[in-house]
Amino acid sequence: MSSVYQRKTSSSPPPSLSVSSSSTTVATSDMTTDKLKNDMTPVDINIPDNYVEHTLKTTKALPPITWGNWYKELNWLSFTILTVTPTIGLIGAYLTKLRWETFFFAIFYYFFTGLGITAGYHRLWAHRSYNASKPLQYLLALAGAGAVEGSIKWWSRGHRAHHRYTDTDLDPYNAHKGLVWSHIGWMLVKPRRKPGVADVSDLSKNEVVRWQHRHYVPLLLMMGFVVPTVIPWLLWGDAKGGYVYAGVLRLCFVHHSTFCVNSLAHWLGETPFDDKHTPRDHVLTALVTIGEGYHNFHHQFPMDYRNAIKWYQYDPTKWFIWACQQLGLASHLKVFSDNEVRKGQLTMQLKKLRETQEKLKWPNDNTDLPVISWESFQEQSQKRPLILISGFIHDVSTFIEEHPGGPHLIVKMIGKDATTAFFGGVYDHSNAAHNLLAMKRVGILHGGHAHGLEDKLIPPSQRLKIARYNELSSAYGSSTAYSDGEGMFY
Ligand SMILES: [Zn+2]
Ligand SMILES: [Zn+2]
Repeated sequence: MSSVYQRKTSSSPPPSLSVSSSSTTVATSDMTTDKLKNDMTPVDINIPDNYVEHTLKTTKALPPITWGNWYKELNWLSFTILTVTPTIGLIGAYLTKLRWETFFFAIFYYFFTGLGITAGYHRLWAHRSYNASKPLQYLLALAGAGAVEGSIKWWSRGHRAHHRYTDTDLDPYNAHKGLVWSHIGWMLVKPRRKPGVADVSDLSKNEVVRWQHRHYVPLLLMMGFVVPTVIPWLLWGDAKGGYVYAGVLRLCFVHHSTFCVNSLAHWLGETPFDDKHTPRDHVLTALVTIGEGYHNFHHQFPMDYRNAIKWYQYDPTKWFIWACQQLGLASHLKVFSDNEVRKGQLTMQLKKLRETQEKLKWPNDNTDLPVISWESFQEQSQKRPLILISGFIHDVSTFIEEHPGGPHLIVKMIGKDATTAFFGGVYDHSNAAHNLLAMKRVGILHGGHAHGLEDKLIPPSQRLKIARYNELSSAYGSSTAYSDGEGMFY
């Protein structure tokens, strides 16, 4: 079944990804309806299975940015917004006294417009991690417009591509291209390639998203600059301060705060859920991004309305969404099953332990040990100190003098089976002794028996040893040898 499917998909050429339009026969007046219909068809419905590889191979990227070509490659609109804003802000701050009221309002307005991006653009629209009532949607769409980062539709399309093609060239802010690129570089110049296909037909159906997209420029000007100027002007007569601090400078902070989700969150911190890609968790990133700093979790469970899963971790965006739910403005907050979240954590913990395990020296593998007959064991014991314990032959020459119970107890067992004496007959040896003994294994006695118990065969340090799945299958794969009684050592 699967081979048929694979043959079919690999032999058929990837279909065109552009949405075909039947507009040739459609009257001009129907164009809008037609466009709307196309907007609502998922663009990735006919995506070929080898889309990423195929696209990277067949579409050409623009040349890399160099000192010689950067000025020709600028994206003038974003470049101007991202350079003029801080310039006006700094000059304005130099010329304008900062009043306390305006200072606190600017901070409030930073969180308000920032939440428009984090709780609105990001968690609501790009990821559908909860349902928002119409009033909340309009509020978030307005707040997000005040952050001047493009319309919901444009932003979410890029962000969905970022999640789908993380760390590849189809990810618009590919973290492998460096911290500066993922933070701001990708907006300053023309995109080097079209971002990978990502469907936003659900957003095309949303009236709030459509409304914001249609009126984006006036909304941006109103929410980005007019509102933060007018409120301080009406309430405490500080229009200039409002414009400079709550308008322009606040915008710089919101910009770089949210840009950190693409740069810092893919660069700084730990990977407690998965280390396949660059996203990381760090409290510092969370502090500067209104809670989007638990990005390793977020890329693993993007539909979860939380970024931080522990109550004490800083995630105001999560608290805001939760509060909206309490107020009846939001519902259906998606939470990934704790059982699955913990599987990811466990995998990473085991991976770390496995690294520790691999740094230690372990006894010779059973399959590497020669099988020795009783006669040969006797004969070789004349030349070097060999002792039989649990079916294994041990060379104890380096240990005789160090034996805590005295060398005589070892010497008298040379060429003999010391299993009973070792396991409590004379002294019930410690785990450490058993571990050390296993390091002295040099052979397996042919036809020797294991005295029944597995714990005598396997040293304590190896009973919970971390094995990769392929190592396990090879152990089980030799089970025929186990069942026929010959291979009692596996
Ligand atoms: Zn990311
Ligand atoms: Zn995301």
